[in-house]
Amino acid sequence: MNLTSLNRRSFLKWAELAGLAVGLPSVSAFGSTAEAAKQGAKSGSPADASPARKVASPETILLKDYRPKSIYKIPVTQIAKAKFPIIDMHSHPYAKTEREIDDWVRNMDEVGVEKTTILTMTTGAEFDGIYKKYSKHPGRFEMWCGFDFAGYDKPGFGPEAVKELERCWQAGARGVGEIHDKGKGLRSGKSNAAGMHPDDARMDAVWEKCGELGMPVSLHVADPIWMYEKMDRHNDGLMNAWEWRLDNQPDIVKLSGMIDILERTLARHRSTTFIACHFANLDYDLARLGEVLERNPNLYADISARYAETGPIPRFAAQFYAKHADRLVYGTDMGVDTAMYRTTFRILESLDEHFYENEQFGYHWALNGFGLNDAILQQVYHENAARLLAARKG
Ligand SMILES: [Zn+2]
Repeated sequence: MNLTSLNRRSFLKWAELAGLAVGLPSVSAFGSTAEAAKQGAKSGSPADASPARKVASPETILLKDYRPKSIYKIPVTQIAKAKFPIIDMHSHPYAKTEREIDDWVRNMDEVGVEKTTILTMTTGAEFDGIYKKYSKHPGRFEMWCGFDFAGYDKPGFGPEAVKELERCWQAGARGVGEIHDKGKGLRSGKSNAAGMHPDDARMDAVWEKCGELGMPVSLHVADPIWMYEKMDRHNDGLMNAWEWRLDNQPDIVKLSGMIDILERTLARHRSTTFIACHFANLDYDLARLGEVLERNPNLYADISARYAETGPIPRFAAQFYAKHADRLVYGTDMGVDTAMYRTTFRILESLDEHFYENEQFGYHWALNGFGLNDAILQQVYHENAARLLAARKG
């Protein structure tokens, strides 16, 4: 499998083949797991069962097959390399073999990524194994560990989890992530804590230890808003929504409730630095994210896997970047492909309008560039992450 030619869909397929689907890292345009994709596929779009239609009239073209091409004769900007060096704060151990890791480093050099944070979500021997593999490229990767939630539902949870966190730190972990709570409780890779949310008192000692060790935490709360909405003709994300739906889960804490949980967690653990993954899934309501950032100095947000969600609103998004440029960090979460990186540069740097990246993102929303200025780009690409990482001990 050529790692440099993966788009979102083939990447998910690759992740399954590589065994990522069961446990290890999440991969998708939405920062979800391949496992979730599999389950989504199982729950089954009726459209999937229908035979491929070679010649289709507009009355029979399915939404999932709709692939518009821009009609506009307007500038197209090719950005082979980012304008400034990048620290990618959201990626996963996609590369499995030494060769794949070498290829990835070559891709990083080509597009201008100086360092990539690998959110392993693992602990124990699994973390140590991944750490060892990536340590052949010193300085190019940061390895972050996960949590072990074993025994979280029995009295006395805490000391063991803290002990393993300290061990991972000794073994080279420099942060924690990606920790998920999509509304049903915390999860770190294969380790689940159903029903326990980040603001739970049982988590106090663990979050406090992260702060004490100077380990920032990459925390993914909730999921894109259209996953919670009705699967009908009004759903703006319908082209992706069916596959990733959450509207059919009655016992789930919804997006807004998860943001409240995030804020309570931030207030409870002021000496711990959190990075909310994917704009905290408030890409559809950046004004609320702005308020959350203003109220909580210990919070950053990563912009990973939300390019397609912000590309449709370039002016509002650019204003948001300008206002909170000191709190946003670059991330990808979408594999290792040079074309993937370049798409993110086009959205952040160019002023291109109305272009499609359906294969990468699954949406048929037209995208636009933000045309961010140099000062903002430098902060988001590098400075904020460098400051955050430098604030640690060890
Ligand atoms: Zn991720």
